[in-house]
Amino acid sequence: MLQVTGLTTSYGPVKALDSVDITAEDGRITAVLGANGAGKSTLLRSISGLVRPSAGQVLLDGKDLVGLSAEKMSGLGLGHVPEGRGVITELTIEENLRLGSLGRRAGSDPVPLERAYELFPVLGERRTAHAEVLSGGERQMLVIGRALVAAPKVLLLDEPSLGLAPRIVAQIFGIVRDLVEREGLTVVLVEQNARSALSIADTGVVLNLGRVITTRPAAELAEDEGLRHAYLGF
Ligand code: ATP
Repeated sequence: MLQVTGLTTSYGPVKALDSVDITAEDGRITAVLGANGAGKSTLLRSISGLVRPSAGQVLLDGKDLVGLSAEKMSGLGLGHVPEGRGVITELTIEENLRLGSLGRRAGSDPVPLERAYELFPVLGERRTAHAEVLSGGERQMLVIGRALVAAPKVLLLDEPSLGLAPRIVAQIFGIVRDLVEREGLTVVLVEQNARSALSIADTGVVLNLGRVITTRPAAELAEDEGLRHAYLGF
């Protein structure tokens, strides 16, 4: 279980996160929703150590991660797929995937690259091609695949749907949901596409201006017209 309490992060004078509490239960998808600038990416970056929070705790199975390097966190089972699909276009698909195994969780069995190809057959078909040939959706699959070969317990996904056609979003979200159900993966899914995110999430957290507005079961949130109109854009 990932338990975030009182997390506060500033960029100079801008307080991007203000005492945020979030719990991501094991084997569940927790969607973090909210408008542009709500602090969603900052939350994930603060959890995974890419930015340093000024206060608060991030407990993974009871161990405080704050202050550890991103590499160390990966070794403890925290995977982060940042916004923007950081594939290395000069490397092949297979080489990109292999990079993921460098951050493998300590004590976990090596995850064969075939695992990523099973989940995303399109990657397997083109494993020796340079990643630059991939479409946006395929790049998203590659970065998720790369995170999975590190055998994470908790996967932080930042805006995986950005710029993708609804059909591709549905495909990727379906695979994420399957991983959670079949393998007990724990996911924190940051999305502006609240409608799609809530369709696969168990719990929804609404952020606004760096603060948690509400935390509710996803189905309940999807039905709350007032909240949807005020914060979720649908
Ligand atoms: P988006 O979907 O646009 O990424 P978000 O909800 O993820 O939005 P953040 O990117 O976390 O929001 O931004 C939260 C606030 O912090 C915003 O006011 C933003 O302008 C500010 N911010 C984010 N990154 C930086 C940075 N590197 N330097 C200064 N301010 C930043």
